Amino acid sequence: MSQTPLQRALSLIADVPDYPKPGILFKDITPLLADGPGFGVVIDEFARAIRALNENVDAIVGIESRGFILGGAIAKALEIGFVTVRKPGKLPRDVYRKEYALEYGFDALELHKDLLTKGDNVIIVDDVLATGGTALACHDLVHITGASVVAHLFMLEIEFLKGREVIAATHPEVEIISLLKA
Ligand code: AMP
Repeated sequence: MSQTPLQRALSLIADVPDYPKPGILFKDITPLLADGPGFGVVIDEFARAIRALNENVDAIVGIESRGFILGGAIAKALEIGFVTVRKPGKLPRDVYRKEYALEYGFDALELHKDLLTKGDNVIIVDDVLATGGTALACHDLVHITGASVVAHLFMLEIEFLKGREVIAATHPEVEIISLLKA
């Protein structure tokens, strides 16, 4: 059976076993990003999915670092703003900070305080949904500003890690959209 352009694009995501440590199957999106038509069709599909929500969206929030590549292109396609959520210590002005648990230890995400405000509606974008910890931390960080999260968008969802359930447990109202389930 012939593939749709979107299926062809998503098939370019490479599986890398045992990276960055034994037992992890890393989903490498760089071959897809390097393919012009493939990258284009994926961004078009994200934009189509956002328009289909029929919600007023003020900004795309991208999670460092692959969320920046996707989120920036989606924001341009929709002609709305792009907001960076970064790993600790990267942003030069006053930030809100949200810590979250990793398998071993903690990490944190930061957001410049003045980029979002009460009443803003945003969509959070990242490449891969795994355990959901990163997306949930970003969601909670956005909430500190008073803004609302309309949806989470991912290129790929690793279903057995149940990140969808983790986000929905505390935010059952939010849409969770992934272009591919693995
Ligand atoms: P998590 O917080 O477990 O949902 O992990 C999501 C974040 O880690 C995203 O920013 C992903 O880019 C990255 N990530 C986690 N697992 C993988 C994986 N198997 N392949 C590629 N990226 C991953």
